Amino acid sequence: MFKANKHRIQTHIESLARFTATPGHGTTRLSYSKEDAAARHYIKQEMNKLGLAVREDAVGNIYGRLDGALKNAPAVIIGSHFDSVPNGGSFDGPAGVVTGLEVAALFQEYGLEPQYPLEVIAMIEEEGSRFGGGVLGSRMIAGQISPADLTEMKDSAGLSAAEAMEKLGFNAADIGSALRTGNDVKAFLELHIEQGPLLEEAAQDVGIVQMIVGMTEIRITVKGKSGHAGTTPMEGRADALAAAVSILKELPGMVLGEADRPVLTVGKLDVLPNGANVIPNQVVFTVDIRSANSGTIQRILRKIGQLVTDAEMPGIAFSTEELLYADPVEMSADIQSLLIENCEKLSLRYRKMVSGAGHDAMIFAGFTDTGLIFVPSKDGISHTPEEWTDYAQLQKGIEVAFETIVQLTEAKKKSSNTEM
Ligand SMILES: [Zn+2]
Repeated sequence: MFKANKHRIQTHIESLARFTATPGHGTTRLSYSKEDAAARHYIKQEMNKLGLAVREDAVGNIYGRLDGALKNAPAVIIGSHFDSVPNGGSFDGPAGVVTGLEVAALFQEYGLEPQYPLEVIAMIEEEGSRFGGGVLGSRMIAGQISPADLTEMKDSAGLSAAEAMEKLGFNAADIGSALRTGNDVKAFLELHIEQGPLLEEAAQDVGIVQMIVGMTEIRITVKGKSGHAGTTPMEGRADALAAAVSILKELPGMVLGEADRPVLTVGKLDVLPNGANVIPNQVVFTVDIRSANSGTIQRILRKIGQLVTDAEMPGIAFSTEELLYADPVEMSADIQSLLIENCEKLSLRYRKMVSGAGHDAMIFAGFTDTGLIFVPSKDGISHTPEEWTDYAQLQKGIEVAFETIVQLTEAKKKSSNTEM
């Protein structure tokens, strides 16, 4: 029986956690930052040690590849993202990257030779913490992003994604070369922490994701006119915040009547100029909507559109942009069957589940057979420094991933007489 190495797993997780802009306050690793560069160096170095052929695509996703015995065969990719939210934890993303590294380490340790190439991937900007929208690394791989998009996406300092990439030596104009398709990818497998309480509550080891909910993120900008808080009469003001509130207060109620229990969140709101004695001239906020049913999302978006139209008033201008739209996606039934088979083989307690969080896996599912494995999150929490998964639990999930990757790559032990 193959055993993953818990010590090695823990060392990788702890090493990656050190590449943070906020030491002592969790992991803050924004894409193309100096912490990204340091983590990137570590991941490439570890891939090299495992005998993988290391490369970065034009936009900064990292690959480590073990060639297969079959020539020109499509690759089996395993991995996740290595960026974080501000003041996040050590596991969201890295758990999946470390899974890829550990699977490759087990291939090396046990002398396994894949028939189909094995690729370990570490992707950028899944969280969207720097440029908004999210799953950018995988969307670039799937061909959903143009060079113009990368020029338009800006961080809070006004730097575009293209410029940020260039600082690390990448080239947004060459994004086309980052494209992967169903012709050169046989399957994608991701391990991720659950970020919810279900596995822990039921004392289960592994979640086998059947579907990822559909989600959309829109940004609504409300423009008014600033003025002195003391000298501008109430009549005739164009207060952008007062106008925004007329929309904001209606939003949560908008999803309550829906049968499939969609969720809606306004998590980001900027008020300009944000002075106590100045009438706000601009308010920008995001609306995140998720549902297992794309019809529900569309219906809520239409209701929001109507709400914005109804809120129009003199001196106030509203505009709405869509930052992300992803339909609900099914994970591959074949890979789900393999995962179940392997959980049973390893005597692990598992459940099938729906993911309410978006992951790179949902983008890969658009062009290749995709599987997603969850491991328990202590107290169900994530995106905070307290985020935690026991290393023994992570090890179990990685062993399921390993067995599944052996099957997907059709790996065999190198026979001693063919070895040089
Ligand atoms: Zn994540």
